[in-house]
Amino acid sequence: MTHALPILTLPVREQRYSCHGCGNCCKDFTVQLREADLAKLRAQRWEERLGGPVTVEFRDRTWLKQRADGACVFLQDDGKCRIHAEYGFAEKPTACQLFPFVLVPDPTRTRAGLSFACQSVRENKGAALSTHLAELERMSAAIPETRRPTDTVLLADGLHAKAVELACIESVTDLWFSRTDITLRDRWDGFAWLCTSLARAQLKSVRETRFRELLQLLASALPEEVHQLRTEPATKRQMKLLRQGVFARLEDIKIQDAKARGRLRTVLAQLWRSSKFSRGKGEIPDLAQGFLRGVRFEVVAASAPLSDSPDANEIDLLLSRYARAMVLGGRAWGAGYYGWPAVRGLQALALNVACVAWVARARAVHQGRSIALLCDVEDALGRIDRAAGRAPWLGAVGERVRLEYLRLDDGLRRILSASL
Ligand code: SF4
Repeated sequence: MTHALPILTLPVREQRYSCHGCGNCCKDFTVQLREADLAKLRAQRWEERLGGPVTVEFRDRTWLKQRADGACVFLQDDGKCRIHAEYGFAEKPTACQLFPFVLVPDPTRTRAGLSFACQSVRENKGAALSTHLAELERMSAAIPETRRPTDTVLLADGLHAKAVELACIESVTDLWFSRTDITLRDRWDGFAWLCTSLARAQLKSVRETRFRELLQLLASALPEEVHQLRTEPATKRQMKLLRQGVFARLEDIKIQDAKARGRLRTVLAQLWRSSKFSRGKGEIPDLAQGFLRGVRFEVVAASAPLSDSPDANEIDLLLSRYARAMVLGGRAWGAGYYGWPAVRGLQALALNVACVAWVARARAVHQGRSIALLCDVEDALGRIDRAAGRAPWLGAVGERVRLEYLRLDDGLRRILSASL
């Protein structure tokens, strides 16, 4: 490949990763295939050997087939990948090789972000990220668009971002989530206040060094400013929007089911469950392989916030590492997040964490506990982050409207305070 951008591994010093073979990604993800992947599968002659197709066509794309339980057709009983076992790692589809890395190009380099859908990433287990560089070089050769310069990031709608502005957002976020003198709730309250302030500002007339000065001024006002500006409890409408956000992130449409039902019935079923979920009454409707089956919305709403958890410090460390990885790994906006402007991407990140907190509390209730622990938050973060960048409806109008409404009346701060 000529003129390929250099790869920058995630500059979050404490983050580590090695695959520990839990197989969770093979039980969950729908894997989109590239032409080169299809050629490999044909050469491996799976269709003849397994007596049926191993791929499925859906919405003009080709995907790896999944079994009825959602697992990949190549997942063996021992939890290992059959392609890997028979032909080696480099013969697996590109997306499988790359996961949990996410390559996001910018004008001067390709950032290697990380998906927190991977258990080893969440648990911070394995080798230093720099040890994966040679493999990333090799794998990215099969995805040339991830190594070409792109210069399309917006700061806000209609405003092309300058390098100095993005660098300032990154350094302020990194510093805020690295501080050791603030609590879990103040940290996210402050971040939501910062995002909302940027979303309200007339950024057209505050560019480059003036933007940097504005952001540094806002950041220096934290957390004292948020202590002065205490929030009211979240309104019913704001909590409804939070549940809508949770549903959109947990919704898990399996290709085979969607094909069997047909597009119209799939969309209608999705709308019905979405509206039941956002009403927030009675039992949580079946979603995401029924993992919250039997839990009542009212019990989740009455459960303790994450700040009361005996694991609050560890939860704070995990969510702070996640926030830094999203921003510094290029997954919070632009090519890493539906082409969104940076300021809206930051708001979506805050909403992600409010959703993580809600799901963690619901999971704790499902496990018979009244308070969420670190294991609940880890699980919830994996479920929420698996949708980021993959569920197209998270980059669509509905999510934009949700964030626009939550920008008003301190919505983001209020739903975060209600959950954290
Ligand atoms: S989820 Fe992570 S640790 Fe588990 S098999 Fe996939 S890449 Fe490996």
